[in-house]
Amino acid sequence: MYKPDNVKTSPDFPIPETMRAWVLGDPDQLSLTTKPVPVPKRAEVLVRIDAVAICATDLEIIHHGPPAMIQGGLPYNKNFTPGHEYMGTVAALGPGVDEYKIGDRVTVEIHAGCGQCKRCREGMYTACHNYGLNYGDVDKGHRANGFTTDGGFAEYAVNSINTLVPISDEMSDEEATLVVTAGTAMYGLTELGGLVAGESVVVTGPGPIGLLGVAVAKALGAHPVILTGTRDNRLKIGLELGADYVINAKNEDPVAAVRKLNGGKGVDYVVECSGAPEAVNEAARMVNRGGRICLAAFPGKPAEVDIAYIVRNNIYIYGIRGEGKSATHRAEAFMAQKRFDATKVHTHTFALEDLPTALKYARERIEDAIKVVVKTHGHAAIKSVAAE
Ligand SMILES: [Zn+2]
Ligand SMILES: [Zn+2]
Repeated sequence: MYKPDNVKTSPDFPIPETMRAWVLGDPDQLSLTTKPVPVPKRAEVLVRIDAVAICATDLEIIHHGPPAMIQGGLPYNKNFTPGHEYMGTVAALGPGVDEYKIGDRVTVEIHAGCGQCKRCREGMYTACHNYGLNYGDVDKGHRANGFTTDGGFAEYAVNSINTLVPISDEMSDEEATLVVTAGTAMYGLTELGGLVAGESVVVTGPGPIGLLGVAVAKALGAHPVILTGTRDNRLKIGLELGADYVINAKNEDPVAAVRKLNGGKGVDYVVECSGAPEAVNEAARMVNRGGRICLAAFPGKPAEVDIAYIVRNNIYIYGIRGEGKSATHRAEAFMAQKRFDATKVHTHTFALEDLPTALKYARERIEDAIKVVVKTHGHAAIKSVAAE
């Protein structure tokens, strides 16, 4: 049995010595292997993973490598387990941990900064200056599970207590995996200014972050909230999550349509979630003078930007990485209060052993897949469509 020194376990949660875990070989090659169950250190716990959602960034990492960084380089053939949007149950406590109990249900945010650098001290731990420096001689205490350390496509993972978000028993496993996505939307909006009540917001791109960006902006009191995109079924979900208006950019010019909806002046904020090459220029023309743009997505190649227009109009542009400043806790509070129904973006569930199929559904958007969730135990060969 699993019984490392100085680690607290419970007979109620027997832990095996080994676990099933997917590991990345060459690009696009994942194999299901057996690994030792990891051991939590100071200020860490062992989480039994119950569910993990697939993110577009997982697809990037598996195919291209970055932003994952293992032992200072690409994540291939290093026995690395990807996956970062997971939730589960606290199964063992590292030395001195009294903030959590064994059996607590938690969801996780990704970045445990080093806690020592300038940005971590400011709460910007997703921009930690010691990103990736977490092995061997350069152990800075930094973790970004699924990016720089082992992640959630496995049965267990070690997490810093700073990355845990307690969840109520009423929240389903699937919904809990979406807290981090809503947390990213929350971080973007709070970095833009936070007090968006009564201010106008456009969200461009109805992917998971964009759709939950609509929901969070609405819950924060923004008005109107406008969503732009090119797929009517996604825009319809945006309306269900609280968008006041949706604009299909295939049918009309989104800049003209936004300005028309707001008396010709443009909106106060744009949260850019599409990653389209023209997105920054369009966003600049959607905001009013002095407006703010949050970039939560990016095109695959460098894009041409009309800087003169941005300067002349005193437009602020923010790049955001992940979910800093405990934004996931604020997002979870909205979800616990049922201010919006994040499960509208969850479409499919698979068992852990079917991860390659789950990734295929996410990558190819089979059956209009948005968020695909993998369950790690007791759910053999399940596949369901949660949203129509
Ligand atoms: Zn993600
Ligand atoms: Zn740091």
